[in-house]
Amino acid sequence: MEIKISEEMSVMDKLGILSDAAKYDVACTSSGVDRQGTKGGIGNTVAGGICHSFSADGRCISLLKILFTNECIYDCKYCLNRRTNDVPRASFTPDEVCELTMEFYRRNYIEGLFLSSGILYSPDYTMELIYQTIFRLRTQYHFNGYIHVKAIPGADSSLIYKTGLIADRMSVNLELPTADGLKLLAPNKPRKHILGPMRLIQEGIKSNKNELVLYKKAEKFVPAGQSTLYIYKSEQSRRRNRRYI
Ligand code: SF4
Repeated sequence: MEIKISEEMSVMDKLGILSDAAKYDVACTSSGVDRQGTKGGIGNTVAGGICHSFSADGRCISLLKILFTNECIYDCKYCLNRRTNDVPRASFTPDEVCELTMEFYRRNYIEGLFLSSGILYSPDYTMELIYQTIFRLRTQYHFNGYIHVKAIPGADSSLIYKTGLIADRMSVNLELPTADGLKLLAPNKPRKHILGPMRLIQEGIKSNKNELVLYKKAEKFVPAGQSTLYIYKSEQSRRRNRRYI
């Protein structure tokens, strides 16, 4: 597949937009503060998209948390990245995501990558982009750290499955608990497009466990498991938030 992404904007500008756009995709248990470096001091806490999560063995790890793109063809009412919202837009290229991950990793800022995305052109196109990016990261950049990716609702199951063979964790956002709520607030995302990938990942994990008992060298499928999140309205903040289940 030919991947056409604009490279006109600087990578730092893209990082600013796409790490900010990923902040409601919950992958973390804590968030940082925004403190610039000082002359003679070491370190800073600029909002560069680093968050924390738990690995399969329970360790707390830091992740570079970004969207591949905040362009989206859909118009989910609760989402900052919805098509009709007037926000700055940006898209990484696969190599930009790989290079950022490697540079952050080499500096010991992170132990892994959390990659989600708005829907660019179509669910299959976007899932292929995500797959190509992490495939490149694993094979050309030889990144062996933790990778958590989003399965794109409505993407072909073969794309989701092959992504699961090179990612550590996958998640699909459940978003709303009822089909009616989803129809009202996310009309482009039928419930079956969400439940289908969730079931595929769940069944893939189950059958992979059996395979690994029989063949120790079998490829691992999503070894750190799957997670999801849904939207709730906080009475204190009166804002819509996202919570993991
Ligand atoms: S598909 Fe995802 S990124 Fe696009 S508007 Fe809906 S929630 Fe936002």
